[in-house]
Amino acid sequence: MGLSEVLFDKAKNVMPGGVNSPVRAFTAVGASPRFIISADGAVITDADGNRYIDYVGSWGPMILGHNHPLIREAVIQAAERGLSFGAATVAEVTMAELICSLFPTIDMVRMVNSGTEAVMSAIRVARGATGRDKIIKFEGCYHGHCDAMLVSAGSGLMTAGVSASAGVTEGTAKDTLTAPYNDLETTAKMLEVNKDQIAAVIVEPVAANMGVVLPKQGFLKGLRALCDTHGALLIFDEVITGFRLGLGGAQERFGVHPDLTVFGKIIGGGLPVGAYGGRRELMEQVAPLGKVYQAGTLSGNPVAMAAGIAQLTYLKEHPEVYAHLDTLAEKLFGGMRKLIDDLKLPCALNHIGSLGCLFFTPGPVDKFQHAKQADTEAYARYFKHMLGRDIYLAPAQFEAMFISAAHTLEHIDATLDAVENYFKRM
Ligand SMILES: *Cc1c(COP(=O)(O)O)cnc(C)c1O
Repeated sequence: MGLSEVLFDKAKNVMPGGVNSPVRAFTAVGASPRFIISADGAVITDADGNRYIDYVGSWGPMILGHNHPLIREAVIQAAERGLSFGAATVAEVTMAELICSLFPTIDMVRMVNSGTEAVMSAIRVARGATGRDKIIKFEGCYHGHCDAMLVSAGSGLMTAGVSASAGVTEGTAKDTLTAPYNDLETTAKMLEVNKDQIAAVIVEPVAANMGVVLPKQGFLKGLRALCDTHGALLIFDEVITGFRLGLGGAQERFGVHPDLTVFGKIIGGGLPVGAYGGRRELMEQVAPLGKVYQAGTLSGNPVAMAAGIAQLTYLKEHPEVYAHLDTLAEKLFGGMRKLIDDLKLPCALNHIGSLGCLFFTPGPVDKFQHAKQADTEAYARYFKHMLGRDIYLAPAQFEAMFISAAHTLEHIDATLDAVENYFKRM
């Protein structure tokens, strides 16, 4: 038994499932999780001293790779000045100015501590600003675990959702409607049926929590137009896409302007940070200026801000990082797609920039119904093969692969080699 197994047994005794976030338990792949003790660049090291090429990247934040010297230094220096003051700091202003300067749709921003918190707050602003209660979201999109987002489509698809988790009340669920991703027609009908009741439509502009599913041509623009017609706000959840698909996120890439934007992951550089922002008159609804209450003891924490500022500043000053990521991604995902085609495998590969996903189902995969067809047991076998070849993939089919700027062509070659080896035995 390895050290990871020993630790997992101890962990299960004192933590639900042995983890602090469910996917880490490796349940979906029927394996025992590796306990990670350190990470550097593209490589993570477990308690038994195994080293893996990492494609999880802490689920997105580590776009520059692990333990980046600039971020590490910024964190150490901030820590030496004090860990938390619960008072206004320069770093918060710097962070807000950085985000506002890179996102033309954002005049003001509020820092919080996670993506979940940012989504929850943005929804509250949308409801406060519109005086409406209902929200439309999309099947297969993940927006964190606040009650209003843990809701699935009910039988009364058009008028009320049903709780997707124990502990979420019917009262909460009834105000969240769920439409199929990439389906403008159903969304339009929902807005029509619930006339003057929809506060906001929230979407991952590229869905990256059902594997990776790209928006169809015109989907995001269509949502913008529908929201305008119906007086609903459009919220882009850019927790994954923000600063990953480019400095201006998905909204820049697709040229669609949301009313509110939600961030997390990358903006914290690996520390717990989230943020939401938008047009001035919307953000002026937030306390202490406005009537929408939202607060946080550790929000804008100086150490977290230092990490985030260091990462975002590096990206801003080195936009060539994105070209480098694209080169690596083309090589990896392009290589995988070619193998799928050459070997005529029943797989699909979706990717955009440094985000990608191999689905064990023949494509195209452009909505949750398609993603759901994937053979999760086939994914589990693939995952274990790759882990055995020292390549650490997401321990579940419906997650993205994240490439970082610290990956090298050698890492990609080693990965493609392991993939080819597996594919040839499929
Ligand atoms: C991860 C994620 C969240 C939730 O962020 P947490 O920091 O885990 O609370 C919200 N939206 C999207 C798109 C995410 O990927």
